[in-house]
Amino acid sequence: MQTKTINKRIRQTKKVLKSLPQIAEAVVTKATASNTKELVAQSRLAICKSCPIYTNGYCDSEKGGCGCDMTLKVYCMSCTCPEPFKKWGAYE
Ligand code: SF4
Repeated sequence: MQTKTINKRIRQTKKVLKSLPQIAEAVVTKATASNTKELVAQSRLAICKSCPIYTNGYCDSEKGGCGCDMTLKVYCMSCTCPEPFKKWGAYE
């Protein structure tokens, strides 16, 4: 495996490890979401689906997005659409 590919995978792994609390929050919320939180999630996903950064369910990192699976991230109530886009914010 080339050094460039290894370094890319190391960066991706570090990013996933750093995001574990948000991923856990999203999984729990998705499984137990109230009507209000489900509405927040679906509203966020509708915004993402109309965004040029959105590609096949992901916020495309090749276009400057966060690289997250948006079908899950929208359930993380403390998460936000990344800078510089900021199309939706946290719901507390
Ligand atoms: S999180 Fe923001 S930038 Fe990413 S796809 Fe959704 S609206 Fe677009």
